[in-house]
Amino acid sequence: MDDCPDRNRLIKQWHKAVQAFSKSVSRLRVCHRDAGKFADQYQATELARVQAEDAHVKLELHRTEHGC
Ligand SMILES: [Zn+2]
Repeated sequence: MDDCPDRNRLIKQWHKAVQAFSKSVSRLRVCHRDAGKFADQYQATELARVQAEDAHVKLELHRTEHGC
């Protein structure tokens, strides 16, 4: 299999985004008793989830366009 630098970069981005999302979910568990903090953290978690999805879509697109 060819080593595609773009694909590697996109995989790293996706990995980072998933890790950020995972950390954000962990924080929800810590602050769930504080309604205000929970709402803020929930928003941040949603954003992290969307970013992780976005990174995944970019990798899918690259694989489709590049055939790698
Ligand atoms: Zn590629």
